[in-house]
Amino acid sequence: MSDLLSESSADYRAIYLHIPFCVKKCIYCDFYSKTDLGFIPDYIKTLEKEIKKRSGQQATINTIYFGGGTPSLLSIKEVDLLLNTIKDNFSILSDAEISFEINPGTVDFKYLEKLKNIGINRLSIGVQSFNDDKLQFLERIHTADQAVKAVDDAKQAGFSNISLDLIYGLPFETQSMWLDDLKKAVNMKTAHLSCYMLTIEPLTPLDKYVKNGKIKPLEHKSMSMLFKKTAQVLNELQFEHYEISSFAKGREYKSKHNSQYWDMTPYLGFGASAHSFDGQKRSWNHKSIIKYIKDINSGRLPVEDFEILTVEQKKLETIMLGLRTIEGVDLIKFKSQFHLSFQDEFENIIATILDQSMGSLNSSKFVLSLEGRICLNDIVETFAGKILADKIHE
Ligand code: SF4
Repeated sequence: MSDLLSESSADYRAIYLHIPFCVKKCIYCDFYSKTDLGFIPDYIKTLEKEIKKRSGQQATINTIYFGGGTPSLLSIKEVDLLLNTIKDNFSILSDAEISFEINPGTVDFKYLEKLKNIGINRLSIGVQSFNDDKLQFLERIHTADQAVKAVDDAKQAGFSNISLDLIYGLPFETQSMWLDDLKKAVNMKTAHLSCYMLTIEPLTPLDKYVKNGKIKPLEHKSMSMLFKKTAQVLNELQFEHYEISSFAKGREYKSKHNSQYWDMTPYLGFGASAHSFDGQKRSWNHKSIIKYIKDINSGRLPVEDFEILTVEQKKLETIMLGLRTIEGVDLIKFKSQFHLSFQDEFENIIATILDQSMGSLNSSKFVLSLEGRICLNDIVETFAGKILADKIHE
């Protein structure tokens, strides 16, 4: 395991840093994070060691992403240290997109101004809603007013590339409630919106409330209607719906970092539970902060396990990630990677999708329509079934 990454010949393009700390857990969240903030200083020291330990990889980094958890719980000094450690150990392009997630309940103007000054050039603000009833239901630590202030402060601090995260489809949410929320978000005039459906993740408090009958989730039909309405409204307002949940006010504001994930570009992930991918092999660090710190301090890479993607997995991921985006499945790339024609291989599935006006096909790409994206999971399952059946009959 020790030379797991040194064997890689990948040219990494993206770096992700996981900051697994939160003031309090939100009821819907299944991301790995701890509320014991006392671990932060040791964690940062360990993260610094991990970055140094993994230096020397072939890398031309054009995106860096601080995600969580709540990166905005770090002091500016800690963020600066991590950023400089990355810059000292990897080749970073001068115009790299450097994103940072903030929680409106943890920042003020001074903090944001300093973030800008140390080189963060894109903010992803976890607003989730501008409606206090929704925020309380989700057990967020901030109010709608704090969310508005965080966005205003970010603009005032000089950030022009700002994304807002929003959640819709709460059990009590009507279409007009969501459209009112969305309107408030649009009025903040940010460059990017990420609109996520509320999903019931296993083992979260929300999952428990659903199972014991305390909460009745919104029906699939209503959720689909909200998805469609979101796309229509934002489309009319000149947002480009470039990925299932992502809307950019112009090409330059698409998330370059996430686009690299959807494109299966090699990336390095640092921190507890972070994943890395070299184009063939996916590895992931220990979830437990204790194990993560222990491994690094013993001179080992904190890798819990890895998998080498099979041809079938790669095919399915290429299709699944492609169908999420406006770029769709790149037919030429598919052919050169798998030595197969996508159109021939999936002729029947494609024909059904086209018949139902759920997608379009030209000589270079296969893309889902809005109707198709509503049924993305079912469509991906159909592709998965065919890939699996072909493998069995090989
Ligand atoms: S703040 Fe974000 S990462 Fe933390 S619990 Fe809430 S949703 Fe999850």
